[in-house]
Amino acid sequence: MMTDFLLLAQTNNGEGTLTPLLYLGAAVLFILGLKQLSSPRTARRGNMLASGGMLIAIVVTLIDNDITNWGTVIAGLLVGGTIGALLAIRVKMTSMPELVAAFNGFGGVASALVALAEIERTDALFEIETGVVVALSLAIGSITFSGSFVAFGKLNGSLPGQPILLPGGKIINALLALGAVAVSVWAIAADDAVAYWIVVAIALVLGVLAVIPIGGADMPVVISLLNSFSGVAAAMAGFVISNSALIIGGALVGAAGMILTLQMAEAMNRTIANVLFSGFGAVTGGPVSTGDKPVKSATPDDVAIALSYAENVIVVPGYGLAVAQAQHAVRELATLLEEKGVNVDYAIHPVAGRMPGHMNVLLAEADVPYDQLLDLDQSNPRFGQTDVVLIIGANDVVNPSAREDETSPIYGMPILDVDYASTVVVIKRSLSPGFAGIDNPLFYLDNTMMFFSDGKAAVESVIGAMANV
Ligand code: NDP
Repeated sequence: MMTDFLLLAQTNNGEGTLTPLLYLGAAVLFILGLKQLSSPRTARRGNMLASGGMLIAIVVTLIDNDITNWGTVIAGLLVGGTIGALLAIRVKMTSMPELVAAFNGFGGVASALVALAEIERTDALFEIETGVVVALSLAIGSITFSGSFVAFGKLNGSLPGQPILLPGGKIINALLALGAVAVSVWAIAADDAVAYWIVVAIALVLGVLAVIPIGGADMPVVISLLNSFSGVAAAMAGFVISNSALIIGGALVGAAGMILTLQMAEAMNRTIANVLFSGFGAVTGGPVSTGDKPVKSATPDDVAIALSYAENVIVVPGYGLAVAQAQHAVRELATLLEEKGVNVDYAIHPVAGRMPGHMNVLLAEADVPYDQLLDLDQSNPRFGQTDVVLIIGANDVVNPSAREDETSPIYGMPILDVDYASTVVVIKRSLSPGFAGIDNPLFYLDNTMMFFSDGKAAVESVIGAMANV
């Protein structure tokens, strides 16, 4: 994302004496910003630092390139900046993953457009090295663009979330990838502008066909992988126009995205190849049958009593907490419990919600102290000594099948071992499945109470019932 503005502001190389120093300053701000983004406590400051670095890079690039058409540049900045600001202000927290997918797509297309502009400007008369980075920028940028918008469609529901498996899909994709390489070689060897355009066309199709067979439940990994691709494409575009700030910015996004991709895949106990090529979720989609298994339904009073007499409570937030916007009510309930001497912590699964860090952002918005947020490794050893686990709108990330049922599609995914607690309270509206589309045996355990309600309404009713305890 941060490379997009720079890509759009970029024209031609003309770095002077001061320019490399200012670009270095911008790069230092990018790195410090990224470092601070790794903790919710410093993330806001990190964002400001990285934005400051980007502003320096844009201004230096514009001044250093003897811009004559300022009107066009300023109009572009105003239109793009206004659209970006409106989108960011208006987006709901639950739609944030779509926004990230769209930004990745725009990052990819910006890189491809820079390379295409360079082809137009020079009539594709490149040195071999430049031809290689132009082809890479076009191919990776175009795959990122079309793949990101398929991911966007799957997340916002305009495309089916289930994997769409075409007959021979893997072979077609392999042939397309080989075709893109072969046409790139031809484009570079023959200095042929048309061949570069064919690379773009093949890569656009490949982006669509590569993401369509991937299920919605795997979108966190796909989005962070595409984020990484958008960074690599930007770095390639930086080489095309010899802009060191763009190379550094792109490389940072590429590396950070790849690290996040690996962490996400690990949190699901999958390899990246398995995520990309296994069609996970194709057979498990659709409504699940829960049979006639009995569940224990709880009232607000039952939950208020269980929580008030507990010593240790762990709250487990999930996607439903985000949908219900229950974070402020949860914080209020936790404060009431703390006043009664109950210890309250929050267990955050790395893929709870619909994007990395989704739950952390929501809880931070409600001023939940950071030291109460436990990750998977910190919380799992504690569940055995926990009196009550309060699950709000989480499902897949607390599904014991991942630990016990070898036939389950999520078998092996690390989960929060909430069923080891003395009492488990699950707040959700029904027995409907989560994103992976599978039933959850947790709901039928003897120590589980189901409170069927919207997350926010449920927590507020428990707060009301606390007055009687
Ligand atoms: P799940 O999708 O497994 O479950 C969410 C539950 O929330 C549903 O079962 C739903 O049940 C309930 N819910 C929905 N709306 C409300 C509401 N208003 N009030 C109360 N409950 C509600 O969520 P998890 O967070 O447990 O797991 C995340 C899943 O999403 C994983 O499969 C993960 O792989 C996937 N994913 C994660 C991403 C990430 O980066 N974190 C990105 C994309 C996917 P009901 O309808 O009965 O209320």
